[in-house]
Amino acid sequence: MAKTMRAMILDRPGEALRGVELPVPTPGSGTLLIKVEACGVCRTDLHLIDGELPHPMLPVIPGHEIVGRVVGIGEQVAGFAIGQRVGVPWLGWTCGECVFCSNGRENLCDAARFTGYQIHGGYAEYTVADARYCFPLPADNDAADDAAELAPLLCAGLIGYRALRLAGEGKRIGIYGFGAAAHIVAQVLRHQGREFMAFTRPGDTASQEFARSLGAVWAGDAGQMPPASLDAALIFAPAGPLVPTALTHLGKGGCVVCAGIHMSDIPGFPYDILWGERSIRSVANLTRRDGLEFLELAPRIPVRTEVHRFPLDQANLALTHLRRGEFQGAAVLTLDG
Ligand SMILES: [Zn+2]
Ligand SMILES: [Zn+2]
Repeated sequence: MAKTMRAMILDRPGEALRGVELPVPTPGSGTLLIKVEACGVCRTDLHLIDGELPHPMLPVIPGHEIVGRVVGIGEQVAGFAIGQRVGVPWLGWTCGECVFCSNGRENLCDAARFTGYQIHGGYAEYTVADARYCFPLPADNDAADDAAELAPLLCAGLIGYRALRLAGEGKRIGIYGFGAAAHIVAQVLRHQGREFMAFTRPGDTASQEFARSLGAVWAGDAGQMPPASLDAALIFAPAGPLVPTALTHLGKGGCVVCAGIHMSDIPGFPYDILWGERSIRSVANLTRRDGLEFLELAPRIPVRTEVHRFPLDQANLALTHLRRGEFQGAAVLTLDG
């Protein structure tokens, strides 16, 4: 096996990622050494790079939508085999003892550590991950393409799925910001026999068309009034003004779910748009249960991701394209060989 690996690291927020050559890590007790096949590029990576997330480990290798093969197994690991394909998500470690960990809400653990933020992530040829937080993934063929299409499931898919679960059982769902998470959630909603409407930046007809191609019953600018009221609203775009906008689109008893880790400030709004038992909530991180449920469901739908591939050393370009909204679906870094 190679002794060194290529990686892209963030030295300081506000700077571009830097390509470096690092020693291949060794798997310590409880961990897997994974040869990365593909790693998704998530909006959270932009928040990290922009300094919008507190206390990152620095320097850090970003990336928390990792698909790869197990090439090394530390002591005290059961249930994984060399060559097996695994996925590594955002949730990288929890304490297992606090009140949140004890009652099924490990996503809220105060001591939690997150992949590509406080633990080195997948913008690299190899990564080490705590085996208890890795998910087995299907590997019906060895094509790298396959890995790229799985990668967005690891965050966009999981967080989207958790957001949808917390939105309740309503029949008509609004989706605000039609990017990687939205295009996966749309397929889950169709599978469940529910309707969705897509709200985009003003004039973003390409995203609106993409949403219609995935079955949206209506797609338009976020400022437009939809033709019918919503049972729930999922906000994936990091724009606070969407919260009162979504409230005005919501029927009584509906919920606005904010799914991003960071959002600009929410402006003041009149109480009567919240009245009628409407609610606003956030979704934070994921639990392993979310991951197992969603990764079992996704191939049965089956979820098809739209991916845009970039080589590892073009991670900065991929991030720029994501920031500018220059593609539909998800950006993924692919590593060959
Ligand atoms: Zn805990
Ligand atoms: Zn993410």
